[in-house]
Amino acid sequence: MTRVRFAPSPTGSLHVGGARTALFNFLYARHEGGRFILRVEDTDLERSKKEHEDQLIESLLWMGLAWDEGPDIGGPFGPYRQSERGTYYREVAEKLLLEGKAYEVYAYPEEIEVIHDRLLETGKAPHYSKDMFAEFDTSERRREFSSKGLSPALFLEMPRKEYRFIDLVKGEIAFKEGALGDFAIVRSTGLPVYNFAVVVDDVQMEITHVLRGDDHVSNTLKQMAIYEAMEVDMPKFGHLSMILGPDGKKLSKRHGHTSVEEFRKRGFLPDAFSNFLALLGWSHPDGKEVFKIDEMTELFSLARVHSSPAIFDEKKALWLNGVYIRESDLDSITRLAIPYLVDAGQITERKAEANFKWLRKAVNSVRNGVELLSAFPEKMALYFEEIPEDSLLDDHIDENVLEAFSLMRQEFENLDEWSPDTIISVLKDVVKKASPDRRAFYTSLRRVITGRKDGPEMIDVVYLMGRTKVMERLSRAIDRV
Ligand code: GLU
Repeated sequence: MTRVRFAPSPTGSLHVGGARTALFNFLYARHEGGRFILRVEDTDLERSKKEHEDQLIESLLWMGLAWDEGPDIGGPFGPYRQSERGTYYREVAEKLLLEGKAYEVYAYPEEIEVIHDRLLETGKAPHYSKDMFAEFDTSERRREFSSKGLSPALFLEMPRKEYRFIDLVKGEIAFKEGALGDFAIVRSTGLPVYNFAVVVDDVQMEITHVLRGDDHVSNTLKQMAIYEAMEVDMPKFGHLSMILGPDGKKLSKRHGHTSVEEFRKRGFLPDAFSNFLALLGWSHPDGKEVFKIDEMTELFSLARVHSSPAIFDEKKALWLNGVYIRESDLDSITRLAIPYLVDAGQITERKAEANFKWLRKAVNSVRNGVELLSAFPEKMALYFEEIPEDSLLDDHIDENVLEAFSLMRQEFENLDEWSPDTIISVLKDVVKKASPDRRAFYTSLRRVITGRKDGPEMIDVVYLMGRTKVMERLSRAIDRV
């Protein structure tokens, strides 16, 4: 069975790159009918924080990427947090030591550093080998280590030969003979080194495909040597191309808001965000740009994952989100907009609930021009704000327009039913009777009713503003001099 994993390190928030890796793993697993596993790689004890893990989980769930096994829900191959898997790493390390594939190193990190620098100074590659550490293995040093509660570091003996593998995205990748020397798999503190933990986990969790960012290509060499030492088959690897900013540089915070949390807060819809991520490196067989996660799942294949870098285009993300805001079900968009309106102080949750029918129409009246949920308060402000008394003083209003306004006030007053249809007939009627310049009429009407020069469709505005407010504002214009 296909088993893939997303293996974030909880050292910060989840960003676009990681989110895309998670999405592609999810899509691949679902497409293949396999399992999607979440593994938390917290071997870096200092930088890893539980709150980052919680945040990561929240971001992934917001995106709708539910996993089948993970630290929060467990599973048959747990634990799913590296910090809880120490015994597994020790067992494997012990075995490699017994088999003579790894050896003990009694040097302190500073001493290893000295060897490193000396190699560089003498013009050699900084590649370690067993003989370089021999001088440290004295009985005195062994005593010192044990009195300090340290154990020797373990180094894997790196076979000096060429390594090759077929990357599912990039094609064949080769590492030349001698590209790497021996390397540590366990530190003297007893903690596993990152690449070692990853391989032990991937083996024990029966991972079949590793899809990850291509910043891990170079790690693959060490990992291949570890698989080989463990005498197990490697999973298939697919390294996803880098995501670049519009300036062609690796995407970073300099390029603006790139964490999932920021996307969520700014008012992206999860579907739009996933759609955007999918386009960062994958393309729809029909060249479509707008598609939901179910469609992606059905069509996803690694063959359509590009090996060239993807460009992060903020404008495209916004455009896509706008499409989703326009095309999604109105009730759900309204529900999603409410927290933003509440935050802006335009409405309370109770009021929003009580006036939901009105609210969804108001949302509908502005949603065509909205690309972020967070833009709703500004677009909808006209429905909630008072217009300052003197806002019209400088406006010239034509005589005929004023006459039309007076007629309108009268007819509105006599209307039995306040609806878009009855409002339309009143507007038609007064335009016919007072024959104002149509443009001037609508421009002034908008100014008078909303205090603004532009905004949603006038009929919607009049209707949604309500009769009382509309009458008040018309009177203000009519009686102003
Ligand atoms: N923990 C690694 C990261 O956050 C992922 C390693 C892997 O996928 O093999 O980049």
